Amino acid sequence: MTHLQYTLVAKRAKHRCEYCHAPEIIFNLAFEVDHIVPLSRKGEDKPENLALSCRICNLHKLARIERVGCVTLTLTHQS
Ligand SMILES: [Zn+2]
Repeated sequence: MTHLQYTLVAKRAKHRCEYCHAPEIIFNLAFEVDHIVPLSRKGEDKPENLALSCRICNLHKLARIERVGCVTLTLTHQS
């Protein structure tokens, strides 16, 4: 993620997490720019696929995607 992408997404989001709306200023670290549809799932590196995300939401989303990936793998084995 480039600094320019962070700047554009953070400005658009008004420096709030776009998932839980927590303000970036209350965290000690800058928020992360998240791919809404991950690149590994053919998401694109475009502003409309980027969201400013706090660490908690980013980790929660990652866990959910990994869980969905396991379900998909399980369903593949059942068919
Ligand atoms: Zn959040």
